[in-house]
Amino acid sequence: MVLAEVEAIVNDRGLLTGPRPTVDREKLQHHLREVLRLLHVDLQDENLLDTPRRWSESLVTLTSGYDYTDVRKLTTLFRKACSAADVNCQNMVVIGGTYKTLCAHHILPFFGQFIIGYIPETMIIGASKIPRIVEVHMRRLQSQEHLAHDVADTVEKILEPRGLAVWMGGVHMCMIMRGVEQESSFMETNVLRGEFLNDERTRDEFMSIVNRRGKRD
Ligand SMILES: [Zn+2]
Repeated sequence: MVLAEVEAIVNDRGLLTGPRPTVDREKLQHHLREVLRLLHVDLQDENLLDTPRRWSESLVTLTSGYDYTDVRKLTTLFRKACSAADVNCQNMVVIGGTYKTLCAHHILPFFGQFIIGYIPETMIIGASKIPRIVEVHMRRLQSQEHLAHDVADTVEKILEPRGLAVWMGGVHMCMIMRGVEQESSFMETNVLRGEFLNDERTRDEFMSIVNRRGKRD
């Protein structure tokens, strides 16, 4: 991975959707066309003529997180976006946002909200950077559990906070569209570390924020 490319992630320039020279697009398109053929899909239908190319491009984008797996490099770069925490004011910092990703079992989307809380030790990070960290991780195939833990690991490595909490709540299309066809497929994941594990009041404070802001419908 080119250094400038990683720097662009930290600078909010959205290069995660950029071209990935490492993927053999022609081969990918060929195999996706075969997949459709095996499913007896009429590839001559005018709506489907260009589908193997579109499908392959969308898969390349949705898995672009695999190009950013060097956690050490990411940590170093995101550290540059950090600033010193006020030693007299070690309050909980809470940042929320949305995520969308693909499940590793069925390659179907699951998506929802995240709320991340941390208690700084020596460093804080700009509010726009946390969603960037989530974005790097969400463009991979995974489970909600893995996504929450991977995000927690990266934030922990960057900030080394006194406490860290990652909550994710999402709707899973693989539960809605197949299998049990369960319409109420909302799943919650909670990762608690440091003071969020050891101190009940800190944990309760975070969970009351989740209860206020975390959507369940
Ligand atoms: Zn699934």
